[in-house]
Amino acid sequence: KLYNQVQDLKGNIRVYCRIRPFMPGKPNHLSTVEDLDERTITILTSSKYGKEGRKSFTFNKVFGPSASQEEVFSDTQPLIRSVLDGYNVCIFAYGQTGSGKTHTMTGPSELTKESVGVNFRALSDLFLISDQRKDSIAYDVSVQMIEIYNEQVRDLLVMDGEIRNNTQNGVNVPDANLVPVTSTSDVINLMNLGQKNRAVGSTAMNVRSSRSHSCLTVHVQGRYVTSGTVVRGCMHLVDLAGSERVDKSEAVGDRLKEAQHINKSLSALGDVISSLAQKQSHVPYRNSKLTQLLQDSLGGQAKTLMFVHISPEPDTLGETISTLKFAERVS
Ligand code: ADP
Ligand code: MG
Repeated sequence: KLYNQVQDLKGNIRVYCRIRPFMPGKPNHLSTVEDLDERTITILTSSKYGKEGRKSFTFNKVFGPSASQEEVFSDTQPLIRSVLDGYNVCIFAYGQTGSGKTHTMTGPSELTKESVGVNFRALSDLFLISDQRKDSIAYDVSVQMIEIYNEQVRDLLVMDGEIRNNTQNGVNVPDANLVPVTSTSDVINLMNLGQKNRAVGSTAMNVRSSRSHSCLTVHVQGRYVTSGTVVRGCMHLVDLAGSERVDKSEAVGDRLKEAQHINKSLSALGDVISSLAQKQSHVPYRNSKLTQLLQDSLGGQAKTLMFVHISPEPDTLGETISTLKFAERVS
């Protein structure tokens, strides 16, 4: 029994690795990923590719370049039921810019039924399951969408600058709009609004999006029809800022400041997750805006899933290795 409990605790933090395919139209290089199976990848760490130039990393799951969005989601699906059962869940996408974070969370720029990412699939599952349970539990669902840029939180669901209702959920982002939704298409419309608001005031949308964290939070409240008992859960879907280190000699001014903020918040996140994974008594939530905001959903009964993304190209090897080391630290 104790063994099972330990297993359950371990199951609260899971780390998956996803390797994206080579970009179409680019010359086909030799991949830095020499070998992969269900749980392990082996990276060629030196250009000489000698025996000593290999390193293996183990994860809860590895998704190779040909893994479909559906396959990736199938291992995430159990978390959706958890949210409806009253658990808090965080799903993170980590990796350098261009490694596939947005692809995993949202999908490619041209979305199809097959190519939609984790957040659409999660929401359609959530509404599906809540509908199946409607005779015994009545669910209310609402969403928030924020961006964290230079340690400042920005509400992405503002319509004409007005702030709508805020319920006392305990886990709301203070002052960010909380918008009730009843279907996946409601959420898609809000995400589009969020994307539009995100681009406001930034000259290059892609640049801005790779330097800020974006977080879609889904709040769920269920009321048992007979007893009136209430369960609350929430799910944070976080597309993190690019983890690449900037060249110190090149970064000056705003660029340097951005880089320092990103660095600080990603390492704060790593510190929190690794101290939870190691069951340390002190968890350093206060070191970044991101970990402060997500405090109620990291640790305790909450469930965390981290997708770490790597690119296959040899010229990204340095970042690939540092991404894998980050993953090693949190798992
Ligand atoms: P990031 O958000 O980490 O900067 P993107 O998700 O934007 O990276 O991915 C960079 C490019 O690679 C995009 O054109 C994206 O569609 C493509 N891509 C990423 N992952 C995959 C994948 N698993 N399969 C096919 N294309 C992918
Ligand atoms: Mg992105």
